[in-house]
Amino acid sequence: MIIVMRPDSTEEDLQQVVDRLGERGYGHHISRGEERTIIGAIGAPDHEKEIVAGQFSVLPGVERVVPILKPYKLISREYNPRPSPVMIGGAKIGGGTVGVIAGPCSVESQEQIMQTAHAVKRAGAAALRGGAFKPRTSPYSCQGLGLEGLEFLQAAREETGLPIVTEIMDVRQVERVAEVADCLQIGARNMQNYDLLKEAGRCHKPVMLKRGFSSTVEEWLKASEYIAAAGTLDIILCERGIRTFETATRFTLDLSGLAVARRETFLPIVADPSHAVGVSSLVQPMALAAVAAGADGLLIEVHPRPDQARSDGPQSLTPAAFEEVMKQVRTIAEAMGREV
Ligand code: PEP
Ligand code: MN
Repeated sequence: MIIVMRPDSTEEDLQQVVDRLGERGYGHHISRGEERTIIGAIGAPDHEKEIVAGQFSVLPGVERVVPILKPYKLISREYNPRPSPVMIGGAKIGGGTVGVIAGPCSVESQEQIMQTAHAVKRAGAAALRGGAFKPRTSPYSCQGLGLEGLEFLQAAREETGLPIVTEIMDVRQVERVAEVADCLQIGARNMQNYDLLKEAGRCHKPVMLKRGFSSTVEEWLKASEYIAAAGTLDIILCERGIRTFETATRFTLDLSGLAVARRETFLPIVADPSHAVGVSSLVQPMALAAVAAGADGLLIEVHPRPDQARSDGPQSLTPAAFEEVMKQVRTIAEAMGREV
């Protein structure tokens, strides 16, 4: 249920609405826009929504109440009709800017991340990515450097000024990683780890939520609602490819899913062509297609020596190839009336 306050409503009116929500045991989220304050109410059972909406609509200062029957509310376009950007440190993702987040799959050494950070910055990336904790399909594959990897990322940010995006896999890591990272990545395999989503939402850092590779768009949006309901609307969705019958690519980049998500939510949506295709030569066409389809940003894996990468080498671009992709991305973005 969304409660829209009148432009001339007072703080007391707002407080009264919040108090009444509290009395009923409903949660709330207040969004103060330039003209209007909107309250997202969480917890009304579907069968009572119409009645409750009628009751709240007569409270002082309330302009209208919109009962929402969709399973996601705070992230819906009914709550906020305009697609809105999210800032990762100083990097803008969405809102007319195509923000590119680039870097290696795993942080492997200080030298590797530093070299990559300088290269992607030169090419025009807005943020640096790199996994310190890696969710690997096999327990025998490299699992990441852990806390040491975080320190290397921090050093790369100090030297280049690029904000850093890194993955959390476990609720026990969230607080420590949030002290360092500018944005917490929740990977495809953890999209439905609800405790992790809630913990990430509580720490008030931007969160990038990847789509589970066997999840529907609706499940993805509901997962993002967990983060929103826990306290942060600074959420970036990431389409990273889904599992289909096709075996020529690692996954299938679901651009129609991206367009559906864009219709449903105001949250920025980025595309990750690297994990979707799994092979470096196909990253460029899918990056361009995603930007043309309205992606608010890209996540691209870059490694100074893909032939020596400890994870996802086959899909990683060299710095030179990344620079070339960025040039093409700029052309497409400009043609779409956006900047990089
Ligand atoms: C990654 O970004 O390196 C990663 C593991 O991605 P995903 O969760 O999409 O597989
Ligand atoms: Mn990877």
